[in-house]
Amino acid sequence: VNTIIVELTKELAAIVGRPNLIVDREALMPFETDYTRRWHGEALLAVAPSSTDDVARVLSVCQAAGVGVVVQGGNTGLVGGAVPADEVVLLTRRLDVLEPIDSLASQVTVGAGVTLEAAQRHVRADGLDLPVDLAARSAATIGGMTATNAGGALAVRYGTMAAAVAGMEVVLGDGKIVSRLSGLLKDTAGYDLARLLVGSEGTLGVITRVRLRLIRHPTQRLVAVAGFGSLVDAARAALTLRDRLGPSLEAADYVDAAGVRLVRDRRRLPPPLAVESGHLLVIQVAGEDVESLLPVVSETLDAAGVTAVSVADDTSGRERLWTYREAVNESIGAQGLVHKFDASIPLGAIPEFAAETHEAVALVDPAATVVIYGHLADGNLHVNVLSPDLDHYRVEQALGQLVAQHNGSISAEHGIGIAKRDLLTLVRSDDDIAAMRAVKAALDPEGLLGRHRVLREE
Ligand SMILES: Cc1cc2nc3c(=O)[nH]c(=O)nc-3n(C[C@H](O)[C@H](O)[C@H](O)COP(=O)(O)OP(=O)(O)OC[C@H]3O[C@@H](n4cnc5c(N)ncnc54)[C@H](O)[C@@H]3O)c2cc1C
Repeated sequence: VNTIIVELTKELAAIVGRPNLIVDREALMPFETDYTRRWHGEALLAVAPSSTDDVARVLSVCQAAGVGVVVQGGNTGLVGGAVPADEVVLLTRRLDVLEPIDSLASQVTVGAGVTLEAAQRHVRADGLDLPVDLAARSAATIGGMTATNAGGALAVRYGTMAAAVAGMEVVLGDGKIVSRLSGLLKDTAGYDLARLLVGSEGTLGVITRVRLRLIRHPTQRLVAVAGFGSLVDAARAALTLRDRLGPSLEAADYVDAAGVRLVRDRRRLPPPLAVESGHLLVIQVAGEDVESLLPVVSETLDAAGVTAVSVADDTSGRERLWTYREAVNESIGAQGLVHKFDASIPLGAIPEFAAETHEAVALVDPAATVVIYGHLADGNLHVNVLSPDLDHYRVEQALGQLVAQHNGSISAEHGIGIAKRDLLTLVRSDDDIAAMRAVKAALDPEGLLGRHRVLREE
């Protein structure tokens, strides 16, 4: 292995320059463990190319050496997909170009290593915004978000990254460069290779640039936190608001009482509402005149049995209310190792699924704490199980079965990575998996990229 590393160091340094290679064991550590600290592996070295051509050269050197490559953006992924397993880590952070905004098309092309926050800052200066947002914005990259088809809080209004991506440039596993950056609204010239890369989790190619569709930054935004006595009531409120407000509803997220408690402890926050509520709904309404929508909002919340509401329309007030939802992930992480399960559930089955989740986890580990939060109006719940001696395998199997029984999906927006590979057969047929393997073999014939992720190697 040492000889391989020495040889790779020499060849890769000739491409990217020695300062853009990391070989020191201690310096590699931040890239070897994921955000949740559940997934860990060793890197041969890390390399940070700054152009598409250099990415292609790096891949061909690795291919010649027969070593695997894992792409890493912000390393905020929650399924262990960016953690190396005796592989070269290809860091995208120097793919950081912010091209000028195409205001006629309302699109912008950015480097894959640009963080969501940097992209937001860039386009907001022109009164525009990105249609996808998530709490990991300071670190998560546009390339990582595209590779995982990230959803986030605004998906109920604008869809996931799949809808935001107007094109991309990518170096395929075989080193060939495919560029689809014209951003044409209509372009049916053959297979949509760019679309195929959305959600491919670093297994088909390295995304180097992404062309994004932009939205006009809403003139007004209002956030309300509403408390409910049951998840049934909260879900009814979220879905009725979606129907009645239409495109004015930008988000309808959920946090249970256990999640709110963890956030309050960690951030030392007062209760979000005057009346203690077991189930919190965070809604965001946007438009030209959100005041005029308030009667519909309060009527709907009342009809669903709301127990208390808090509203904010200024930036700091909105951020304060969002904290009860956005800080759940970090607050859970501060408790120790967590089993995370991102599930997509048909809307009508959400309350039943949540109740059955508590029962199923209690059967596996009666001492475990379950925290459920997520993007309620999308049918997307994040189940988190905390326990000092958790049997991850049994919890995963139990939750996977439950999702399958409800005709849901074992991954709504976090992807499969290494965490969910063994559950794929619960929701995808043999023929379906065979088709995925055929695509993988065609675009990455050496099986160099993201080995063992998404699909187990045969
Ligand atoms: C606090 C917090 C909140 C979050 N909230 C949400 C949420 O609301 N919605 C949501 O969907 N996710 C959420 N996530 C998960 C995570 O932020 C997303 O999955 C995000 O898209 C990952 O981006 P990243 O740059 O960190 O990718 P990484 O973690 O670095 O990589 C993720 C995967 O993408 C691959 N990859 C990365 N860059 C590229 C590239 N350029 N080309 C090809 N493959 C690549 C990697 O190999 C890996 O398989 C959250 C995470 C945290 C920590």
